[in-house]
Amino acid sequence: MRSVVAPDLPRIPVKGGGTFQVHRIYCVGRNFADHAREMGATVAASAAERGHPVFFLKPSDAVVIDGVVPYPPGTRELHHEVELVVALGRDAPPGEVTAAVAQSLVFGFAVGLDLTRRDLQAAAKAKGLPWDTGKAFDHSAPISEIVPGAGIDIRALSLSLTVNGERRQHGALSDLIWDVEDILGELSQLYALRAGDLVFMGTPAGVGPLQVGDTFFAALDGVVELHGRIAPVPR
Ligand code: MN
Repeated sequence: MRSVVAPDLPRIPVKGGGTFQVHRIYCVGRNFADHAREMGATVAASAAERGHPVFFLKPSDAVVIDGVVPYPPGTRELHHEVELVVALGRDAPPGEVTAAVAQSLVFGFAVGLDLTRRDLQAAAKAKGLPWDTGKAFDHSAPISEIVPGAGIDIRALSLSLTVNGERRQHGALSDLIWDVEDILGELSQLYALRAGDLVFMGTPAGVGPLQVGDTFFAALDGVVELHGRIAPVPR
């Protein structure tokens, strides 16, 4: 008999005790109009014209729990994108995921960085190719602990990111083009949503570079924080 043992899936600490085992990581692109504009995308004039969201995935083991991110290989332009992260606590039932069903899937919330090899993403975009090498790489998803979500009104909160003590990004979650219920409804038409899934909800304007030695501080203001740093390339 010949067997192969794969690495264990990451487990994220839950505030107040417990762990959250990661199944998949879904990400939403262009979910804040100000960031879509800074990336050169056209923004729909109204909700009726917004079409469907842009989705991509990261591998589940891209999660970083201790905040220490080794500078990734293959890039000279590592960018930060601070994002709300939604953590799902149960599998989606068969059928349409309505807003009420979507709410029942949510276990809690975290703040994370959708780290991006912007040079590779830009080259892929220019050729109409997939974004995988720009988005789905090792250590590309540093994340805070997960705060159980009962009673948290996400629309009343804001996201922020400072790098080396300087404010880089700030956005109100009332400005999301697609809110949590919208995104879970759209995702459920494309994928089987499962307990353990994470959804990175998209970033506000102000994305920019990170260098070795930088320290970052991300916050879902008043709820949860993530402290981290960019470490030298491992040898
Ligand atoms: Mn993003």
